[in-house]
Amino acid sequence: MREGAISIIVPCYNEAEALPCFYDAVTEVLDSMQTDHELLLIDDGSTDNTLGIMQDLAQRDSRVKYFSFSRNFGKESAMYAGFCNAAGDYVAVMDADLQDPPSLLPQMYEKLRSGEYDSVAARRINRRGEARVRSFLSGAFYKIIDQMTDADIRSGARDFRLMKREMCEAIVAMSEYNRFSKGIFGWVGFRTFWMEYENEERVAGSTKWSFWGLVRYALDGIVSFSLSPLSFASWLGFGMTLLAVVMLFFVVIRRIIFGDPVAGWASTICVIIFIGGLQLFCLGIIGQYISKIYMETKNRPHYIIAQSNADAVKKIR
Ligand code: UDP
Ligand code: MG
Repeated sequence: MREGAISIIVPCYNEAEALPCFYDAVTEVLDSMQTDHELLLIDDGSTDNTLGIMQDLAQRDSRVKYFSFSRNFGKESAMYAGFCNAAGDYVAVMDADLQDPPSLLPQMYEKLRSGEYDSVAARRINRRGEARVRSFLSGAFYKIIDQMTDADIRSGARDFRLMKREMCEAIVAMSEYNRFSKGIFGWVGFRTFWMEYENEERVAGSTKWSFWGLVRYALDGIVSFSLSPLSFASWLGFGMTLLAVVMLFFVVIRRIIFGDPVAGWASTICVIIFIGGLQLFCLGIIGQYISKIYMETKNRPHYIIAQSNADAVKKIR
């Protein structure tokens, strides 16, 4: 590939319906640009014909490289495999469902070529076509995580972005097992331009996210990029201790002055249950971090590639 070439990373999980449309749309845009490109299609253990379609595309077009995982490892792992194997001077991540409009690519590329920025990230300014509750909760999540972490995480940010090779290498160097890309992109820094666009609906197929899946993703993101829940637990414990000391004085003095008889069984039980609940809650927070440490220390690979048409592939990493 010539200088200035673009690598497009496309994580695909059961995208047999959407992939052909994506390929047509994205190659049309890329061909119109004055640059070389490669498409890195990552088959994340799909159970439909996604791999077959990738092989067809690779046969027709030598710029298509496919990497097929041995099972479903998740989008984060698929993106990581793409970053590890991308060869271009510019690297982009795009969803296969055309929710990330390829028409933004030329503008993004121009922005980077001008040298002012190192990465251009896409951010949707509305969530047309999405359930109200989901939009509301996502909005709340971004506000909270932005407060809790140093990483620059914007509301409506997608994983869709075009970046320079240097940033891609920094991301590869962040080899943590619990990956939260929105946090990683923000953490590595570099000068980022946010490009806004209107939400697009999926061309075909359906979203891979269930409601609880999203909740788990949100909590994982917070635990991966913030220590505030731990400080929250400490401060809560500290506050409760202070409160207990004040109450102790109050009860003792009242006993001395008024000679209070035994009463208040119900309130005592309430307090015991309340404190017990808080303790379990805080233990749970600590447990979340310990589980992350546990997974990190195992040092398992992020992905395993079972099949690929590219040479010099980093098969297990
Ligand atoms: N994806 C993946 N592995 C998974 C789940 C999703 O590679 O386990 C891919 C999926 O094929 C798509 C992208 O990640 O290209 C985003 O998925 P989806 O459209 O379901 O998410 P949404 O756009 O609704 O956030
Ligand atoms: Mg999508």
